[in-house]
Amino acid sequence: MIQEQLGLLRTEIPRTVTLIAVSKTKPISDIAIAYAAGQRHFGENKVQEMVEKAAQLPSDIKWHLIGHLQTNKVKYMAGFVHLIHGVDSLKLLEEINKQAAKVARIQDVLLQFHIAQEETKFGLNLSEAQDLLSSNAYEQLQHIRICGVMGMASFTSDQKQISQEFEHLIQIFNQLQEEFFKNHDHFKEISMGMSGDYQLAISKGSTMVRVGSKIFGGR
Ligand SMILES: *Cc1c(COP(=O)(O)O)cnc(C)c1O
Repeated sequence: MIQEQLGLLRTEIPRTVTLIAVSKTKPISDIAIAYAAGQRHFGENKVQEMVEKAAQLPSDIKWHLIGHLQTNKVKYMAGFVHLIHGVDSLKLLEEINKQAAKVARIQDVLLQFHIAQEETKFGLNLSEAQDLLSSNAYEQLQHIRICGVMGMASFTSDQKQISQEFEHLIQIFNQLQEEFFKNHDHFKEISMGMSGDYQLAISKGSTMVRVGSKIFGGR
Protein backbone atom coordinates (compact mmCIF):
# COMPACT_ATOMS: atom_id res chain seq x y z
CA MET A 1 0.00 0.00 0.00
CA ILE A 2 2.63 2.55 1.08
CA GLN A 3 4.96 1.42 -1.67
CA GLU A 4 2.17 1.62 -4.24
CA GLN A 5 1.13 5.11 -3.21
CA LEU A 6 4.70 6.34 -3.38
CA GLY A 7 5.08 4.87 -6.84
CA LEU A 8 1.93 6.61 -7.96
CA LEU A 9 3.01 9.94 -6.51
CA ARG A 10 6.37 9.68 -8.25
CA THR A 11 4.64 9.42 -11.62
CA GLU A 12 2.66 12.58 -10.84
CA ILE A 13 5.27 14.76 -9.23
CA PRO A 14 7.98 16.34 -11.39
CA ARG A 15 11.57 15.47 -10.50
CA THR A 16 12.24 19.09 -9.62
CA VAL A 17 9.69 18.93 -6.78
CA THR A 18 10.73 17.35 -3.48
CA LEU A 19 8.23 14.90 -2.04
CA ILE A 20 8.24 15.00 1.75
CA ALA A 21 6.50 11.95 3.21
CA VAL A 22 4.71 13.21 6.31
CA SER A 23 4.97 10.36 8.81
CA LYS A 24 3.60 12.06 11.94
CA THR A 25 1.73 9.66 14.25
CA LYS A 26 2.78 6.71 12.03
CA PRO A 27 4.98 3.88 13.34
CA ILE A 28 8.63 3.29 12.52
CA SER A 29 7.62 0.22 10.50
CA ASP A 30 5.67 2.42 8.05
CA ILE A 31 8.63 4.74 7.60
CA ALA A 32 10.91 1.74 7.04
CA ILE A 33 8.63 0.56 4.21
CA ALA A 34 8.74 3.96 2.55
CA TYR A 35 12.51 4.09 3.04
CA ALA A 36 12.93 0.67 1.41
CA ALA A 37 10.92 2.03 -1.53
CA GLY A 38 13.53 4.76 -1.94
CA GLN A 39 11.89 7.62 -0.03
CA ARG A 40 14.44 9.78 1.84
CA HIS A 41 12.63 12.99 2.83
CA PHE A 42 10.29 12.62 5.80
CA GLY A 43 8.28 15.23 7.68
CA GLU A 44 7.22 15.31 11.32
CA ASN A 45 5.34 18.02 13.19
CA LYS A 46 6.55 17.28 16.72
CA VAL A 47 10.20 17.55 17.71
CA GLN A 48 10.15 14.76 20.28
CA GLU A 49 8.50 12.31 17.91
CA MET A 50 10.99 13.17 15.17
CA VAL A 51 13.96 12.75 17.52
CA GLU A 52 12.75 9.35 18.70
CA LYS A 53 12.12 8.11 15.18
CA ALA A 54 15.39 9.46 13.80
CA ALA A 55 17.35 7.52 16.44
CA GLN A 56 15.86 4.25 15.20
CA LEU A 57 16.11 4.81 11.46
CA PRO A 58 18.93 5.12 8.88
CA SER A 59 21.01 8.27 9.18
CA ASP A 60 20.67 9.26 5.53
CA ILE A 61 17.02 10.20 6.05
CA LYS A 62 16.44 13.92 5.59
CA TRP A 63 14.14 15.02 8.39
CA HIS A 64 11.84 18.01 7.93
CA LEU A 65 10.19 19.66 10.91
CA ILE A 66 6.96 20.94 9.38
CA GLY A 67 4.84 21.92 12.37
CA HIS A 68 4.73 24.85 14.70
CA LEU A 69 7.92 25.02 16.71
CA GLN A 70 8.54 26.20 20.27
CA THR A 71 11.91 27.73 21.09
CA ASN A 72 12.58 25.33 23.98
CA LYS A 73 12.44 22.34 21.59
CA VAL A 74 15.01 23.51 19.06
CA LYS A 75 18.02 22.11 20.94
CA TYR A 76 16.82 18.51 20.67
CA MET A 77 16.99 18.41 16.88
CA ALA A 78 19.76 20.92 16.14
CA GLY A 79 22.28 18.21 15.39
CA PHE A 80 20.43 16.54 12.56
CA VAL A 81 17.28 18.24 11.27
CA HIS A 82 17.50 18.85 7.51
CA LEU A 83 15.02 21.71 7.10
CA ILE A 84 12.77 23.59 9.54
CA HIS A 85 9.65 24.76 7.71
CA GLY A 86 7.68 26.63 10.35
CA VAL A 87 9.82 29.63 11.28
CA ASP A 88 7.65 32.66 11.98
CA SER A 89 9.54 34.87 14.41
CA LEU A 90 12.92 36.47 14.99
CA LYS A 91 13.00 34.88 18.45
CA LEU A 92 12.78 31.43 16.90
CA LEU A 93 15.43 32.26 14.30
CA GLU A 94 17.75 33.45 17.06
CA GLU A 95 17.29 30.24 19.02
CA ILE A 96 17.84 28.08 15.93
CA ASN A 97 20.99 30.10 15.20
CA LYS A 98 22.25 29.63 18.74
CA GLN A 99 21.69 25.88 18.77
CA ALA A 100 23.13 25.44 15.26
CA ALA A 101 26.25 27.32 16.34
CA LYS A 102 26.73 24.89 19.23
CA VAL A 103 26.83 21.93 16.86
CA ALA A 104 28.77 23.85 14.18
CA ARG A 105 26.03 23.65 11.57
CA ILE A 106 24.37 26.10 9.24
CA GLN A 107 20.68 25.37 9.67
CA ASP A 108 18.41 25.60 6.64
CA VAL A 109 14.97 27.05 7.40
CA LEU A 110 11.85 28.29 5.64
CA LEU A 111 9.78 31.28 6.71
CA GLN A 112 6.17 30.32 7.32
CA PHE A 113 3.48 32.65 5.99
CA HIS A 114 -0.13 32.96 6.97
CA ILE A 115 -1.98 32.51 3.68
CA ALA A 116 -5.18 30.80 4.89
CA GLN A 117 -8.34 32.56 5.95
CA GLU A 118 -8.50 30.61 9.19
CA GLU A 119 -7.38 32.43 12.30
CA THR A 120 -5.64 29.44 13.80
CA LYS A 121 -2.79 28.96 11.36
CA PHE A 122 0.59 30.31 12.32
CA GLY A 123 2.78 32.41 10.12
CA LEU A 124 4.09 35.82 9.15
CA ASN A 125 2.67 38.33 6.72
CA LEU A 126 4.82 40.05 4.11
CA SER A 127 5.52 43.22 6.05
CA GLU A 128 6.49 41.29 9.19
CA ALA A 129 8.95 39.28 7.12
CA GLN A 130 10.35 42.45 5.54
CA ASP A 131 10.89 43.93 9.00
CA LEU A 132 12.57 40.77 10.19
CA LEU A 133 14.88 40.53 7.18
CA SER A 134 15.88 44.20 7.42
CA SER A 135 16.67 44.04 11.14
CA ASN A 136 20.15 44.26 12.61
CA ALA A 137 19.40 41.27 14.79
CA TYR A 138 18.79 39.11 11.71
CA GLU A 139 22.02 40.27 10.14
CA GLN A 140 23.96 38.90 13.11
CA LEU A 141 22.74 35.35 12.56
CA GLN A 142 25.59 33.40 10.99
CA HIS A 143 24.27 29.88 11.50
CA ILE A 144 20.97 30.00 9.67
CA ARG A 145 20.17 30.05 5.99
CA ILE A 146 16.69 31.00 4.81
CA CYS A 147 15.94 28.76 1.83
CA GLY A 148 12.44 29.91 0.99
CA VAL A 149 8.86 30.04 2.20
CA MET A 150 6.18 27.70 3.50
CA GLY A 151 2.42 28.00 3.77
CA MET A 152 -0.78 26.08 4.36
CA ALA A 153 -3.93 26.79 2.41
CA SER A 154 -7.35 26.96 4.06
CA PHE A 155 -9.09 23.71 4.90
CA THR A 156 -11.78 24.02 2.24
CA SER A 157 -12.96 22.29 -0.91
CA ASP A 158 -13.10 25.64 -2.71
CA GLN A 159 -10.36 25.14 -5.32
CA LYS A 160 -10.45 28.77 -6.36
CA GLN A 161 -9.70 29.93 -2.85
CA ILE A 162 -6.88 27.44 -2.38
CA SER A 163 -5.51 28.49 -5.72
CA GLN A 164 -5.52 32.16 -4.70
CA GLU A 165 -3.79 31.35 -1.43
CA PHE A 166 -1.02 29.47 -3.23
CA GLU A 167 -0.64 32.36 -5.66
CA HIS A 168 -0.32 34.68 -2.69
CA LEU A 169 2.57 32.62 -1.32
CA ILE A 170 4.28 32.69 -4.72
CA GLN A 171 3.96 36.48 -4.76
CA ILE A 172 5.50 36.70 -1.30
CA PHE A 173 8.37 34.46 -2.41
CA ASN A 174 9.01 36.57 -5.52
CA GLN A 175 8.91 39.80 -3.55
CA LEU A 176 11.35 38.58 -0.89
CA GLN A 177 13.68 37.10 -3.50
CA GLU A 178 13.79 40.42 -5.32
CA GLU A 179 14.23 42.47 -2.16
CA PHE A 180 16.52 40.36 0.03
CA PHE A 181 17.89 37.29 -1.75
CA LYS A 182 18.77 38.44 -5.22
CA ASN A 183 22.17 36.77 -5.40
CA HIS A 184 21.38 33.90 -3.06
CA ASP A 185 20.89 30.70 -5.04
CA HIS A 186 19.78 28.84 -1.92
CA PHE A 187 16.59 30.95 -1.65
CA LYS A 188 14.57 28.72 -3.95
CA GLU A 189 12.04 26.64 -2.04
CA ILE A 190 8.29 27.06 -1.91
CA SER A 191 6.83 24.47 0.46
CA MET A 192 3.12 24.18 -0.25
CA GLY A 193 0.70 21.38 -1.01
CA MET A 194 -0.58 18.43 1.05
CA SER A 195 -2.53 15.26 0.24
CA GLY A 196 -5.63 17.15 -0.86
CA ASP A 197 -4.02 19.91 -2.88
CA TYR A 198 -0.49 18.96 -3.97
CA GLN A 199 -1.37 18.84 -7.67
CA LEU A 200 -2.79 22.34 -7.54
CA ALA A 201 0.22 23.50 -5.51
CA ILE A 202 2.64 22.09 -8.09
CA SER A 203 0.76 23.72 -10.93
CA LYS A 204 1.20 27.05 -9.10
CA GLY A 205 4.95 26.58 -8.57
CA SER A 206 5.49 24.55 -5.41
CA THR A 207 8.99 23.05 -5.07
CA MET A 208 8.21 20.91 -1.99
CA VAL A 209 5.00 19.05 -1.25
CA ARG A 210 4.25 17.63 2.21
CA VAL A 211 2.11 14.54 1.72
CA GLY A 212 0.96 12.38 4.63
CA SER A 213 -2.38 10.59 4.50
CA LYS A 214 -2.16 9.86 0.77
CA ILE A 215 0.96 7.78 1.45
CA PHE A 216 0.38 6.36 4.92
CA GLY A 217 -3.41 6.37 5.19
CA GLY A 218 -5.62 8.39 7.51
CA ARG A 219 -4.52 9.41 10.99
C1 LIG B 1 0.06 16.86 8.64
C2 LIG B 1 0.67 17.89 7.79
C3 LIG B 1 0.82 17.71 6.40
C4 LIG B 1 0.32 16.47 5.67
O1 LIG B 1 -1.06 16.43 5.64
P1 LIG B 1 -1.86 15.34 4.78
O2 LIG B 1 -3.17 15.98 4.51
O3 LIG B 1 -1.95 14.12 5.61
O4 LIG B 1 -1.09 15.12 3.53
C5 LIG B 1 1.43 18.71 5.67
N1 LIG B 1 1.88 19.83 6.26
C6 LIG B 1 1.77 20.05 7.58
C7 LIG B 1 2.28 21.31 8.16
C8 LIG B 1 1.16 19.10 8.38
O5 LIG B 1 1.04 19.32 9.70
